[in-house]
Amino acid sequence: MQVRPVHLTGGSVAIAGRPILRGIDLAVSAGEFVALMGANGSGKSTLVRALTGLRPLGHGELRLFGTPFAQFHDWQRIGFVPQRPGAASGVPASVWEVVAAGRLTRRRLLRPMSREDRAAIHEALEVVGLADRARDGVSTLSGGQQQRVLIARALAGRPDLFFLDEPTAGVDLANQRALAASLGELKSRGATVVLVAHELGPLAPLVDRSVVMRGGRIVYDGPPLGDHAGPADVDLLHGHHHAHGVHDAPPHRDHAPHVAAPLDGGPTEGHP
Ligand code: ADP
Ligand code: MG
Repeated sequence: MQVRPVHLTGGSVAIAGRPILRGIDLAVSAGEFVALMGANGSGKSTLVRALTGLRPLGHGELRLFGTPFAQFHDWQRIGFVPQRPGAASGVPASVWEVVAAGRLTRRRLLRPMSREDRAAIHEALEVVGLADRARDGVSTLSGGQQQRVLIARALAGRPDLFFLDEPTAGVDLANQRALAASLGELKSRGATVVLVAHELGPLAPLVDRSVVMRGGRIVYDGPPLGDHAGPADVDLLHGHHHAHGVHDAPPHRDHAPHVAAPLDGGPTEGHP
């Protein structure tokens, strides 16, 4: 059996004593492209932070690439593009420098850039379509282009598991398409992707599986819910109660059959 890049069971997170995530069971298989969806405040960013170790788990067991979190040190395998790229604006760094920072975890301390470092940086810029902007200051780029610089930075470390938190928020359609092409390239190389997105737009065809959060819990885990989802799916994505027609499904179920009911707290089998 192949090792799962992400395996969280019974995960919970509290911030300042307030429960934010509860009973999270999430397993992501190698090469899977998962869209993590849900209304604002449903806990998507907190879950991504917990999965990358930026936010400690209160309860639960997290394994990354089969290794218990406490023993995991292979951080170069993981790329993380956080929400809000605003931090990049006003910084007098060139595109190349920002992307080069993504090689830091791979470099031995105080050693100069190797040929391999340079090749990885160039390749990452090619993937996001910004090789011709390498010398430009990051602050001269549009928001969508800056987002792609951050993606290139994550790519430069050649990770095989990516977390991207709302990379399309506030990004125009042309840049969303460029991003979709970049992520498609990653996917074709076998990378595992966990993408937080409110709306998928051009990214929709890449998605293998949707996970929907509501109120700090996973309420759906199954086949992709596109932007052309039916009314029931739209309710799910916007956090309304899910009113099934009488003949649609048993009335007690408001989630995919293989997902534990939000209140029963039992373990799930995750995705097949
Ligand atoms: P999403 O990414 O789905 O919009 P978040 O994970 O950012 O949701 O937030 C989930 C909940 O946790 C929200 O109610 C939010 O207010 C709360 N929260 C997130 N981060 C913090 C924090 N650093 N301090 C206090 N509350 C937080
Ligand atoms: Mg968020």
